[in-house]
Amino acid sequence: ELVYLNGWTGTFDEATISVNDRGFNFGDGIYEVVRVYESRLFAMDDHLDRLERSAKAIDLDLPWQKQELTAITEELLAESGISEAMVYIQVSRGTAHRNHIYNEEIKPNILVTVRSVPERSPAMYQNGVKLITQPEFRWQMCHVKSISLLGNVLAKNRAHRAGAAEAVFVHPDGTVTECSASNIFIYSNGQLLTHPADNKILAGITRKHVLAAAESLNLPFAEKPFKINELMKAEEVFFTGTIVELVPVVEVDGQSVAGGKPGPVTAKLHQEFTSLRK
Ligand code: PMP
Repeated sequence: ELVYLNGWTGTFDEATISVNDRGFNFGDGIYEVVRVYESRLFAMDDHLDRLERSAKAIDLDLPWQKQELTAITEELLAESGISEAMVYIQVSRGTAHRNHIYNEEIKPNILVTVRSVPERSPAMYQNGVKLITQPEFRWQMCHVKSISLLGNVLAKNRAHRAGAAEAVFVHPDGTVTECSASNIFIYSNGQLLTHPADNKILAGITRKHVLAAAESLNLPFAEKPFKINELMKAEEVFFTGTIVELVPVVEVDGQSVAGGKPGPVTAKLHQEFTSLRK
């Protein structure tokens, strides 16, 4: 494990930041989580593009070029000696006495951490997982990868307490958007569907690469909203994220979905996702 903080490198125990950091006080910041496979950053450009889009959306001028961020991350990764890693990159607005109004001169704080990728249980992929639904109660800027994650945290913990792997957000009209920390797909009537990358979801990097895998397999797909009743009847359901990759879903709110077992399309897409990144 290793931490980079504003030019300093050391351990989690030694790293310190001001109590006036706006990330700490306001959740005023953005982040990325990047997967490292065999010592190589996967889709780093996609992540840095998204970091730049998030920064722009919150009126934050990133003082670092993408190349600098890549160099910082690669150096930390090499120093850590970890080959299967999870990289966390956080940029907060900066440090100043607590006041909603910030000075235009404020300097962002940057944190990068490298840790071993957390264990994922093989049972999750072999047997599938449970979801709970949650009425959408987050904000209108879900496309920003904001460190203000209270809504996501509440939803995921409700899922955890219910013995489920994820919580899926459902809008008042029944539209399914995404999960608390992942995107969601259904396979129905020979077509793969996922919500369009608008302000209601985070445009997942895994989502993008799964769509590329569908393309490469000649599997029909569309970025089109679908409703919870369609999900309940779908042939297959899975969610996607950087660390979990693709996870089959077999139960929603205690009801069996997708025939109660992981399906062949999910497995095929996962396989193609894996081979495309090599
Ligand atoms: N939606 C939300 C709300 C997320 O937090 C995440 C990832 N943490 C995702 C989707 C999936 O994004 P990615 O594939 O880039 O990890």
